[in-house]
Amino acid sequence: MGVHFAPQSPSLEASPALILNADYRPLSYFPLSIWNWQTALKAVFLERVDIIAEYDREVHSPTTALKLPSVIALKKYVRQPQYPAFTRFNLFLRDRFTCQYCGMKGELTFDHVVPRAYGGRTSWANIAAACIPCNLKKGGRTPEEAHMHLLQKPFKPTNHQLHAIGRAFPPNYLHESWRDYLYWDSELER
Ligand SMILES: [Zn+2]
Repeated sequence: MGVHFAPQSPSLEASPALILNADYRPLSYFPLSIWNWQTALKAVFLERVDIIAEYDREVHSPTTALKLPSVIALKKYVRQPQYPAFTRFNLFLRDRFTCQYCGMKGELTFDHVVPRAYGGRTSWANIAAACIPCNLKKGGRTPEEAHMHLLQKPFKPTNHQLHAIGRAFPPNYLHESWRDYLYWDSELER
């Protein structure tokens, strides 16, 4: 039998649940793994997750009142892939949203460190985040030819490394019950 809940108020939409792996670490840091309350409750009813913390808010079915979960943990551990996908976002995250030539944060593009015309590939090891002025200045040259220095050599990050970087970029919304499972503060203090 399906259970249908009628939300008490539209603000329920702002009650996401933080989703932890079975080891109580977030499934993902960046973007932070959160589910909307409908998905979270469904997982609760399917007994795929344990409720770790709850909101004060309740939803009502004809027969039950239930507090919305604010933190849930998967019962079964999900093995994380060793390497993240090679996406624009993940590449910017690896480079901390910073131009790898001048250190500026802001509007970024991608630089082929070894230019394509020289056979440079579009790969983790040959792409660096760059601001538009640096990208234009470098043009179709190698860093050596342009006398520009990379802050770090582009590399293929592991998921572990990318998660570690993601911790330094907390999302805008953090419910207080999530803080015990996240490490932003200690990371930022380092
Ligand atoms: Zn720059």
